[in-house]
Amino acid sequence: MAKSPVKPKKVKEFDRIAFAKTVLRRATKKTRGYNAAMGRTKYMVWAKNKDGRQSKAYQVRWKCEGCGKDDLPKSEIEMDHIHAIGLSDTMEEWITNLFCDESGYNILCHGCHGKKTVNDLKLIKEMRDARKLRDSTAEASSSVDD
Ligand SMILES: [Zn+2]
Repeated sequence: MAKSPVKPKKVKEFDRIAFAKTVLRRATKKTRGYNAAMGRTKYMVWAKNKDGRQSKAYQVRWKCEGCGKDDLPKSEIEMDHIHAIGLSDTMEEWITNLFCDESGYNILCHGCHGKKTVNDLKLIKEMRDARKLRDSTAEASSSVDD
């Protein structure tokens, strides 16, 4: 039996908007607001040696502003935009919400951030559905006017 021809690899179209958003999201980590928020619940603890005694090194830890869980290493905290940036109407608004000041951020543990994100996504979907409905009724009424 002949070998089936190799399917040509699908080339994903370059999504400029998604790319730009990723770059901008990364850039927030260099802003004063982000860093000030990061420092809000940050503290140092002395590290422990394997034998349980205090070592001369220290470790940086954070506290979750949602549930109050503390002793969290950096890998277990996430910066949350209190006002979900996905709820922006325009690109300009998205950028303004993205680069918020310190008060626009929450330091959350994975659990709290996950819950917040589920809720945010629900709100974003509601907003998009309302927008679609508004656009379709506007289209329908404009075609009646013609
Ligand atoms: Zn938490």
